[in-house]
Amino acid sequence: MSDFSLARKRLDLLISSGRLPNTVIIESAEGAALAARLASAVVCVQPDVQKPCGSCPQCKKAKASTHPDIVEIRGSGTTGSLKVEAARDLRTDAYVQPNDSDRKVYIIHWVQGSTDQAANALLKLLEEPPAYAMFILVCASAAALLPTVRSRGVLISDYAGDTSVQTAKYRKKAVEIASAIAAGDGYACLRMLKTLEKDRSGYKETLSALCGLFSAAFRLWAGIVPSGSNSKAAALGKKSDKEFQEPETANQLKSKYSASRLAGMAAAAQTARDSLDRNASGSLTTLLLAETIFNA
Ligand SMILES: [Zn+2]
Repeated sequence: MSDFSLARKRLDLLISSGRLPNTVIIESAEGAALAARLASAVVCVQPDVQKPCGSCPQCKKAKASTHPDIVEIRGSGTTGSLKVEAARDLRTDAYVQPNDSDRKVYIIHWVQGSTDQAANALLKLLEEPPAYAMFILVCASAAALLPTVRSRGVLISDYAGDTSVQTAKYRKKAVEIASAIAAGDGYACLRMLKTLEKDRSGYKETLSALCGLFSAAFRLWAGIVPSGSNSKAAALGKKSDKEFQEPETANQLKSKYSASRLAGMAAAAQTARDSLDRNASGSLTTLLLAETIFNA
């Protein structure tokens, strides 16, 4: 459970800093619990304690899920993906002043497969949020978010540093695996995945990066590139593109596979990472992932 303590520690540091940003992205297996903790801390009125105190009237309402200024948003359907209508409703609601508290908190459960239209509607809100509003995006992997959305928020993650040498190493690995997939070389792909099985945190990082690559290739199909209409967003998108994506690899994938295959691969990479979080066997995870990628 050391993964959990890391995100929790980071969250408590952010809360005690007293400088809460408008958008927080929580990438954690315990995301829902951490989001609830943060929302409660935001509305908590107990002075001079580490928030949330858990016992003031605001905390009690938060705990009972009856706080009028804490709104939880989940997508629909079996996958729980967020549709553009839901994102638009959220936007309308966000401009209604809070009731009970100084702030209004939205907990948004973001899953892979939520539409890019929904992401773009959400992005508009994150770019010009009402001062009292706070958005907590909960996701299994920040790679599932558009880079422009990701760059708006402070990331609270189970995973160690984002720009470390280690991360660069696993991103490189992900690019190699994706190239093998683009070349249709199932054997090379399987062999590279297998070398990661003993290094679970490295395997998870590689899978996140892979998921990002598949998503980028999918977005090429959908014709979605960081918007040029908003130069600020475009600049932010560009900055994180450099960190998370490899346009060349995405293009190779796009010329080999259909949009639906690529979406399936992105989902499979995320599922694989989630199952490693739940302590699934590394070799079984590899097997299921390779099977989904090559036999879809
Ligand atoms: Zn409290």
